[in-house]
Amino acid sequence: MNKTFFLETFGCQMNVVDSERICHLLAEIGYYRTEHVDNANLILLNTCSVRDKAERKVYGHLGSFKPLKSANPELIIGVGGCVAQQEGEQLLTNIPFLDLVFGTHNIHKLPAMVTAVEQDRVRCHETDFLDRETRLQLWPNRADISGGVTRFVTIMQGCDNFCSFCIVPHVRGREISRPSTEIIREIEGLAAQGVKEVTLIGQNVNSYGGKDETEISFAELLRKVALVEGIERLRFTTSHPKDLSDDLIATFSEIDTLCNHLHLPVQCGSSPILKRMNRGYTREDYLKKVAKLRQARPDIRLTSDIIVGFPGETKEDAAATLSLIEQVRYADLYLFQYSPRPGTAAAALVDDISKAVKQERFDRMLAMQRTISQEVWNADVGTTLPVLVEGHGRQKSGQLFGRTTWNRIVNFTGDDPLIGSVQPVRIIKSLKNSQLGELL
Ligand code: SF4
Repeated sequence: MNKTFFLETFGCQMNVVDSERICHLLAEIGYYRTEHVDNANLILLNTCSVRDKAERKVYGHLGSFKPLKSANPELIIGVGGCVAQQEGEQLLTNIPFLDLVFGTHNIHKLPAMVTAVEQDRVRCHETDFLDRETRLQLWPNRADISGGVTRFVTIMQGCDNFCSFCIVPHVRGREISRPSTEIIREIEGLAAQGVKEVTLIGQNVNSYGGKDETEISFAELLRKVALVEGIERLRFTTSHPKDLSDDLIATFSEIDTLCNHLHLPVQCGSSPILKRMNRGYTREDYLKKVAKLRQARPDIRLTSDIIVGFPGETKEDAAATLSLIEQVRYADLYLFQYSPRPGTAAAALVDDISKAVKQERFDRMLAMQRTISQEVWNADVGTTLPVLVEGHGRQKSGQLFGRTTWNRIVNFTGDDPLIGSVQPVRIIKSLKNSQLGELL
């Protein structure tokens, strides 16, 4: 009888990619994915600790699995990802019915860990960071995981920036860049399978190659990827503004297949707070880069992240952020209320902005952004846009979905053979997170 596993993924694209790898590794030891947690032989959570809310969700989910374990002692329950990396063995102590904990550098050990639990009913944890050479050797080539029109390709791992609020360098380790020759080989393999769009991902792709004198820069990598035949669209994320070079900005005027969207997290619109966040740029630096981007690609749409209520944030700082939102006119914005992450530099600062003040500033920024987003996305209504068709829509049968160059999901009625092609779709309505269209 087939064994099944239920896997839930929290957080960013890096975790989405790690989860694909987990599925691949578990298939090698005879486990097949199920969407039904109640019948699974193995339950795994691939976790995120970047935000307090995501971390609390993990604990909530684990609690809900306890009755399943009581009813079936053979059930294996494991936790991976950033919470696992951060808590390590302590998680096993805190949660007596948990069987295994694997950190961000130890996904490759998962099959052996699951087998050990199955055979010997041991509880195990693996959270050591690996050295650079081992990490490079273990880098999976994801061209062997087939399927899909769009794919993420990891080009770097870890981060050396140590923004004062951020847990990532502590749970993902130091920054390493994958050799460009391997990246190109993987993308050629994906193109041969019919993949049409790739998104190059990493914690800060803009600094790709920066630690290795023999490696090419990120702008050069983009130019090489753009030459891969069959890849019709190219995206990348995440971009640190301090590493957004003029050469990288120039790629937006040179490379037609590079999409008209950039996620450029600003975090705050006030220079003194940016300094305390250790971001390495000022408000003025950021705005200059935005202006250059718009010169290189006039119809580019930007999205961003903002942390509201960082320690010491005055009402003038909050007003500066509000005015930056108004000036940049992001297409979408992800707002978060600050909460200290244990182990970060900012955790040593007094979290002195009250919940009520954070909420009030958050609400004002959100209200302004909602108005701007509506204006930006409503401007598409009545226009015909090229949409890369990715698959079946979830809401109605006969409905397909795809994305515009601005990374907006469009649902429309169409037939299966369109999947994988770029089609002209007239936008008839803009909703909060997607658009409705009709195929021309
Ligand atoms: S650049 Fe800053 S915010 Fe981004 S992952 Fe690195 S430390 Fe975190």
